Amino acid sequence: MSVFKADCPHCGTRSVAFTISAERQAPSRDYLAWDTLAICGYCDRGILANFEASTDGAPTELLEKGGQEYLFEEGYLSEPEIYPSTMSDEAPGHVPDNIKRFYEQGVDNLQKNWDASGGMFRKALEAALRTNSQMSRATCITGLKVPSKREG
Ligand SMILES: [Zn+2]
Repeated sequence: MSVFKADCPHCGTRSVAFTISAERQAPSRDYLAWDTLAICGYCDRGILANFEASTDGAPTELLEKGGQEYLFEEGYLSEPEIYPSTMSDEAPGHVPDNIKRFYEQGVDNLQKNWDASGGMFRKALEAALRTNSQMSRATCITGLKVPSKREG
């Protein structure tokens, strides 16, 4: 059973063990390109991991012979491209800095501590509504009301 570590795009677990359940040499590309189906050890969801090998042998054979770090460092096997890609923890570019900070803390805590993550997302929404509310007062466009802390 061949295993490698990567971040899971489904559950967000960092450096989780993926077990390769199928592999196939990509016929239309370089003969050293390998597509593998790998399963997350935490959430049991599958990913497509593309490896490039600089030596003969499938990724399962290479991973069983040598450790992942050794193979990557020595260039025998590339770090895999993973599909689907991992969720970005960056806020969109147009988000104001005060909201961006809360949003990025929420994403960062999503897998580690979802209570803290929920609090950060709530703060991001409150800051966005407050910003929108201040803009609305100036322009008289919407009637959004942001409850104060005393109102709950
Ligand atoms: Zn997972």
